[in-house]
Amino acid sequence: MMSSQVSPVKVFIRIRPTARFAHELIECPPDQQTLKVRSRKDSDKGKRNNQLSSWVFQLNGILDNVSQEDTYDRVARSVVLGAFAGYNGTIMCFGQTGAGKTYTMTGAAETYKHRGIIPRALQEVFQEVEHRVDHTFSVHLSFLEIYNETMVDLLSSIKKGKSLNSGVLTVIEEPGGGVSVKGLSLHLVHNEEEALNLLFEGEMNRIIGQHALNKHSSRSHCIFTIHIESRSRTLSDAKYITSKLNLVDLAGSERLSKTGSEGQVQMEAMYINKSLSFLEQVILALADSRREHVPFRQSKLTHALKDSLGGNCNTVLVANIYGEAAQIEETLSTLRFASRMKCVQTKPSINEHVDPVLQVRRLEKEIQFLKEELSMCNTLTYRVGVSNEILSERQLEEVRSQVQRYLSGLLDEIPIVSITQTQEVFAQFKKVVLEQQKKLREQIAPRNPRVEKAMNTTPSIVAEVQGSVGAVGEVDSCGYGLGLAKSSQKHQRTVSPKPSKARKDKQISRKEGAASQPPVENITVQAEQPLNLSESDMTTHEPPKQAPEQQQQQQQQQQQHPRTDSPPPKAEAFEDFKAERGSEINRILKENKAVLSERTTQLRVLTDVINTTKRDLDYITYELRQFRERKQSQGQFVSSEGEPVLEEAELSLVMQLKELKNRYRQAYEDFSSTKTEVSYCQHLVNQCRTRLLTEFERWYNESFLFPDEVLSVLETGPVRPGHIPVDKALTLMDDEEHSDGLHHKLHADSTVSFYNAYNRTLKRRGSRQVS
Ligand code: ADP
Ligand code: MG
Repeated sequence: MMSSQVSPVKVFIRIRPTARFAHELIECPPDQQTLKVRSRKDSDKGKRNNQLSSWVFQLNGILDNVSQEDTYDRVARSVVLGAFAGYNGTIMCFGQTGAGKTYTMTGAAETYKHRGIIPRALQEVFQEVEHRVDHTFSVHLSFLEIYNETMVDLLSSIKKGKSLNSGVLTVIEEPGGGVSVKGLSLHLVHNEEEALNLLFEGEMNRIIGQHALNKHSSRSHCIFTIHIESRSRTLSDAKYITSKLNLVDLAGSERLSKTGSEGQVQMEAMYINKSLSFLEQVILALADSRREHVPFRQSKLTHALKDSLGGNCNTVLVANIYGEAAQIEETLSTLRFASRMKCVQTKPSINEHVDPVLQVRRLEKEIQFLKEELSMCNTLTYRVGVSNEILSERQLEEVRSQVQRYLSGLLDEIPIVSITQTQEVFAQFKKVVLEQQKKLREQIAPRNPRVEKAMNTTPSIVAEVQGSVGAVGEVDSCGYGLGLAKSSQKHQRTVSPKPSKARKDKQISRKEGAASQPPVENITVQAEQPLNLSESDMTTHEPPKQAPEQQQQQQQQQQQHPRTDSPPPKAEAFEDFKAERGSEINRILKENKAVLSERTTQLRVLTDVINTTKRDLDYITYELRQFRERKQSQGQFVSSEGEPVLEEAELSLVMQLKELKNRYRQAYEDFSSTKTEVSYCQHLVNQCRTRLLTEFERWYNESFLFPDEVLSVLETGPVRPGHIPVDKALTLMDDEEHSDGLHHKLHADSTVSFYNAYNRTLKRRGSRQVS
């Protein structure tokens, strides 16, 4: 339920027509909202006192000599129509017996023209149902009588009505603050006629009950309720509204003393007065904003009308009065009640509900719809502009150019247009990669088919080293647009440790592979030629200037001694080596790789900053130029001294430009130092990697080949390791343990400490001062 604005109860006074109207006591000014009443003080104390007291009552309308039709229009119409917007409504008639409450509410049964608010309301309800074709309505009726604090269902005689409980009627409070009468039958009606039949049926039951129980009609309260439920015909709308119109004909309000009745009549009068005085208490409490507790539950009437008086309801009171002088005291009492009622505030609000079943259905539909829309959207996105058909020559050319520009840094990203276009982009990248590979291969071994073959062997080692290739690749890729790729390649070739001293002639091929070629080739060549290593390889990586005849010589050697795998497989042995003997170097390699990766990331971030700043710079420069051109054509601002004055917008642009230039400069400085670091780290990684593989080769050879074989290989190039006899193997183990083993151990220790120191230095140098 939605909260809305507070509105006071509307109060009307209806004067029963009479030929003996007390003009001297009751005055109706032309505004039709004021009633002035004069009364003799203490008149009931028997004193002859001509002193008059006068009271003025301000109300929402005085219905003096007003037809039933006009009364309905002024009192009830807006309340009835409000029910169609979801507002509850209550119209009550109050006053002493015979003052015209039933006439006002139900009307004179014998003439259609004199019908009252209830039949007119029913007529209006069904007219509205007819008119509002965009909604479906269900209208139910109930008719409740409260007599001596007992509630009676005046429509219980009609079996078709739905009733929760056929026993005792009780008022129950609903979660939303509303009330309903449990056990009261609700009757679905489809048209005005059906509804009027029920009204007459209830009236009839009331009269029959009066005769059977010897009740007086004026002693009971009657509440006729029209329940309306409205749902939008739009299937997806799970919201619906409900409202009820309470049309209340209250018992006579005359005071007990005046009736002079006895026995049962007196008892009835007591009950009636009690419930009406409770009604008055409730109204007083409601009118007093300081009161927190309102005693609705003190009587059935106030409890049943709880939401009409204090709830979300449009409430109207019609106070029926006599115009005769004889009834002036009761009239005054009625008017006092009426003006108190005027102070009661209600908060009319729409009773909106959500049908959970419909809501789920609606949401399911919406999900279905969104799914369809998404798939349509996907389809459309891929089809806009370029279809998924084969690309035209012009489109292929565009993709090629985009890839080129992307690789060279001229293009920030390649927009995805269609699936075929995306596939073509990948194809272009593949082409570039293959071309580069080819080029590299040609550089490594222009006419050596063995290199190619080597690349396809010892997969696990190749894979191991490809991990490091990734790091190199990262460095290269982040250099796009800034010339880094070039410089890092250059760096790889030029920045190398101390030149080799020993046995260049025997290791030419090996060194060439280690220093100037990408690691994949580098290592596979090693794996294929394990015996080509020597101590000098551990520290030297410089690409020696290789003489062509040397190259040829080597190639011939290789061709003369084609090698196959030696037991155990090198890949396995390499894993063992990394876990045991080579673990320390492997760890150092890993650490270096981690540092390299971190610096590379840093470099990429800086590259982004530079590129973004550059873009901003270009943009601001362009803006400024535009601005100045515009200004030139429109004239320059000058100060009173005739000096040119910078406009605010221009000033702001100039300031931004300055700021951006500073940022660019700073970022470029950081970039340069980081770039140096990356190169340095790259170098360390390469060195470690070479070291690891070199040590592995050494270990492998020492572990699985005979010293003389090793020697012969070192001297003459690779030979196929043959079967090792048991006695020779034992000798080998002895050798390793006693002489070679000791030597190797010493050497390994010094290697570790060297790399530890190297690593420490690297870390000490930190992030900046790497020369
Ligand atoms: P109540 O219900 O307040 O006891 P009724 O509505 O029964 O009083 O009215 C008593 C009599 O006065 C009825 O015969 C009714 O027709 C007549 N009467 C009351 N008000 C009017 C009116 N405004 N115009 C014509 N007749 C009226
Ligand atoms: Mg009546």
